[in-house]
Amino acid sequence: MILNWGTQKAMARVCVIGAGAAGLCAARHLLEEPCVSQVDILEQAPQLGGTWVYTEDVGYDDFGLPIHTSMYKSLRTNLPKEIMGFPDFPVPESDKSYLPAKDMLAFLKLYSDKHGVTEKIKFSHHVQLVIPKQGASGELWDVTFKNMLNGDTDTREYDYVFVCNGHYNTPFIPHIPGLKEFKGDVMHSHDYRVPDVFTDKRVLVIGAGPSGMDIALELTSVSKKVVLSHHLKEHPRTVFPENLVQKPDVDRLEGNKAYFLDGSEEEIDVVFLCTGYQYNFPFLHESCDIVVEDNCVEPLYKHVVNMNHLSMCFIGVPYYVCAFSMFDLQVRYYVRSMNGTFSLPSPEQMAEHWEEEKRDRAARGYTKRQAHMMGPDQEKYYASLATEAKTKTLPSVMTKIRDESSIRFLHNLKHYRQDVYKIIDDDTYEIISDGKRE
Ligand code: FAD
Repeated sequence: MILNWGTQKAMARVCVIGAGAAGLCAARHLLEEPCVSQVDILEQAPQLGGTWVYTEDVGYDDFGLPIHTSMYKSLRTNLPKEIMGFPDFPVPESDKSYLPAKDMLAFLKLYSDKHGVTEKIKFSHHVQLVIPKQGASGELWDVTFKNMLNGDTDTREYDYVFVCNGHYNTPFIPHIPGLKEFKGDVMHSHDYRVPDVFTDKRVLVIGAGPSGMDIALELTSVSKKVVLSHHLKEHPRTVFPENLVQKPDVDRLEGNKAYFLDGSEEEIDVVFLCTGYQYNFPFLHESCDIVVEDNCVEPLYKHVVNMNHLSMCFIGVPYYVCAFSMFDLQVRYYVRSMNGTFSLPSPEQMAEHWEEEKRDRAARGYTKRQAHMMGPDQEKYYASLATEAKTKTLPSVMTKIRDESSIRFLHNLKHYRQDVYKIIDDDTYEIISDGKRE
């Protein structure tokens, strides 16, 4: 028998941590949900949008909090806007598919305003501690937060906690022999804003994800030499400028030299780490029973539900997805477990599901670090959430466009953002204007 063991509560009080795309989406659905009586959206920044807020500042803000955003000035989206909206709230029509960050921020503001979310956000409220406790009718949460404007600290009680604090803000620094001793500058892409600091330098860029590739290309316009080190199985077919060379992984750094796994070496002035980010939930007390190890967040059922405390969920953990639409689906999924549309499986069934997923991923060659990577698994993941929660999945055209765009990114880095997509129906799309070919 499938039991619902304690997720449903009438007139629930909900705390949403963060007002980036995930938190806004959570709040939007919660505000419309009859079983919810109170939604507090706590956002540490003075504005909404999270990642999409650009600032020249790096390090710490005026209140001593680490700068959250990793946005750089020239950024344009790496996915077309046609798959960057919410299912019932698309990005407005325009003649371009790949938009600058400021347009995505404006879109999120529009979404938030239209759904009455903005007026409910408690800005400059930094969540410091989340701790579970036993109430008369089940588990509750104490959330402690600080009003950064007046320094006041408060603790409030909630029935549910939505963790929506993002995961592109805490740099992942890989172990590279000699990195600590390296005499030149070392920087992570989290702190990258404009290319000027690299003028006339020989820069070793480590990592060829979307940011690494974009920034490496941008640096070629100011730097003496750009050495792009990566382990992509398939080398990008992009024709790079002559001052960019591609290398395999770094073996070690010594003096002002980088030595690579193929035995070659390069003289460098700066090490620029585009090595990604790590999940970080500094406000979760250990009694929340969430562990992050090698970038795997456990134990989460369907990458959403804290299996040890069902009244806590995480929105936005998977990556290589159609992000905002996936947030929407994850929120619909979880809210439907709150209002009794479906019952979550038993603890044993959830644990077995997660173990099975881990075994399956390992058998397909995924590492632990890739525990939340979707990519080719996206469509199956979306369908599994939708089926269980008896809600609508995302149309397959989304993943089709995502796949096409990723291939074009690899093979036509300089011009793929000129492509313009048009969705025809749930399964089909066309590219109505093709970016210049190389
Ligand atoms: P965030 O946007 O990070 O929002 C989290 C919010 O939580 C922030 O506002 C933060 O201030 C707040 N917060 C954190 N801790 C606390 C706390 N303790 N108390 C209170 N508030 C807190 N995705 C795409 O789909 N397409 C793209 O083209 C794309 N480009 C990207 C480019 C860059 C450089 C980066 C870094 C990411 C990009 N992404 C892209 C991924 C993008 O981050 C996600 O699409 C999405 O915006 C993440 O939303 P989020 O709400 O999960 O996190």
